[in-house]
Amino acid sequence: MTRVSRRRLLGTGALTAAGAVASAAAAPSAAARTAPLSTDVVIVGAGLSGLAAARDLVAAGRSVLVLEARDRPGGRVYGLPLGDGTTSEGGAEFIGPTQDRIAVLAKDMGVETFKTYNEGKNVYYRNGKRSLYATDGLLGAVPPDWGVIDLELALVKLGNMIKEVPVGEPWRAAKAEEWDAQTFYTWSRSNSLSSGARFLMDAFASSTLSMRSQEVSLLYLLNYAASAGNESTPGTVDRLINTKDGAQESRFVGGSQEVPVRLAARLGDIIRYNTPVRSIETGSGGVTVTADGLTVTAGRVVVAMSPAIANKIDYSPALPASRAQLMQRYPMGSIAKFVGVYDTPFWRADGLTGQAVADSGAIDATFDNSPPDGSRGILMGFMNQANIRKLDGASADEVRAAGLASFTTLFGDKAADPRITAFQRWDNEMWSGGGPVGIAPPGALTAFGPALRAPCGPIHWAGTETSDYWTGYMDGAVRSGERVAREVHAAL
Ligand SMILES: Cc1cc2nc3c(=O)[nH]c(=O)nc-3n(C[C@H](O)[C@H](O)[C@H](O)COP(=O)(O)OP(=O)(O)OC[C@H]3O[C@@H](n4cnc5c(N)ncnc54)[C@H](O)[C@@H]3O)c2cc1C
Repeated sequence: MTRVSRRRLLGTGALTAAGAVASAAAAPSAAARTAPLSTDVVIVGAGLSGLAAARDLVAAGRSVLVLEARDRPGGRVYGLPLGDGTTSEGGAEFIGPTQDRIAVLAKDMGVETFKTYNEGKNVYYRNGKRSLYATDGLLGAVPPDWGVIDLELALVKLGNMIKEVPVGEPWRAAKAEEWDAQTFYTWSRSNSLSSGARFLMDAFASSTLSMRSQEVSLLYLLNYAASAGNESTPGTVDRLINTKDGAQESRFVGGSQEVPVRLAARLGDIIRYNTPVRSIETGSGGVTVTADGLTVTAGRVVVAMSPAIANKIDYSPALPASRAQLMQRYPMGSIAKFVGVYDTPFWRADGLTGQAVADSGAIDATFDNSPPDGSRGILMGFMNQANIRKLDGASADEVRAAGLASFTTLFGDKAADPRITAFQRWDNEMWSGGGPVGIAPPGALTAFGPALRAPCGPIHWAGTETSDYWTGYMDGAVRSGERVAREVHAAL
């Protein structure tokens, strides 16, 4: 058996970024194909959760091997190539206040942040009418539709319920059964009368979870908002939806992918790319992890991904039903990003932030994705849930036409002819299955929630879905990796 030596693993941390990624990306050597490796811990997945776990376990002196299905680190964090040598954030993008752990990690990696462009007015497009609104009023990012008082009353009720949720353990809420027995749609219809308030609550579910409100448990949504904070600052809906003081407040210089790419480079050749794990077998001494071209024995394994994708691995013996069935009940949303690159951020000169909410067209929300110096203009549009599924089977030209039709409706004719367009959808990515996050439909959290984090013998679970704070976000992914590293280190 080939023992992965601790000294060798720690030594790789000194490798340069480019060299380390290049060597780690190489296919497993002939020797590795034939001789099973042995290590303290196997981590499945080199997304932020798996990378954070690897960093901490290596620092604690454990030998670690990270197996990643894709040819790159970062998972749902990805720099979408624009075809001219630059990238734009194709997956996770923003960081905001109380997202402390991703902030610390980014700082350690030397990746700086800058404020999301937020000067001027937002665009609201509903029932065929385009209007502009300022976001520095009482309502913040909420568009002032008819029924706004109705909406505010509902949000106050929601805010009070959010305070009753034990963060990360919503199944322990006193009213957990009642709240988990309904969807957010059912609740919003019982607690608002106006079509404006109802539309905006649906838009909230769609833009934060990429799901229709009909699909999401009310309890899940309450916990999602409760988790949008930290140990000293309770989570709120406002922090989820706002740009200023909220989750969309800042971006990363060079793009968010710089964080996982640099961390992966530091970890060096303990990461094997193009190595999808197919099975995990638990035996008396630990686990045997079988991937394409590679078999590894280890004391512990960390599965660092969403429950839905973890369900594609074969487990032997079968996992306890609570975990196995949880993984059948945690679907991913449908989400895509469409990007247009212009010579200038022309909407800024028109007094617009570049942010919009729309009830029709392929794009339902937009942001200004330009670089920090505004040297060129990049508009990014989200295509969420049914909107992106309508484009199943569409050609690249049809997607481009649909995206530009939305941009033109929202920002005028100047948006019609970008220099470059690019497009990234996640719901047909084999190793993500959708995004931004796995959600719980009614009934799942109260019946299966505790299985989210509970280890199954030597198998441990990470991934943003398992985080207490900022579940669904990069911060939650990092937190989950740090939590699982502590758990595994203590267990070994
Ligand atoms: C379009 C979009 C926009 C988003 N916007 C934001 C945002 O602005 N801010 C924010 O904070 N978050 C955002 N998110 C969410 C954020 O990307 C995730 O919360 C976070 O990246 C999840 O990290 P993770 O490590 O938990 O999982 P992942 O990133 O999914 O990592 C799992 C890894 O496991 C690998 N893998 C899967 N199966 C196997 C297997 N069998 N064998 C080996 N490897 C495997 C995958 O390839 C992947 O690399 C967004 C997500 C999307 C998709």
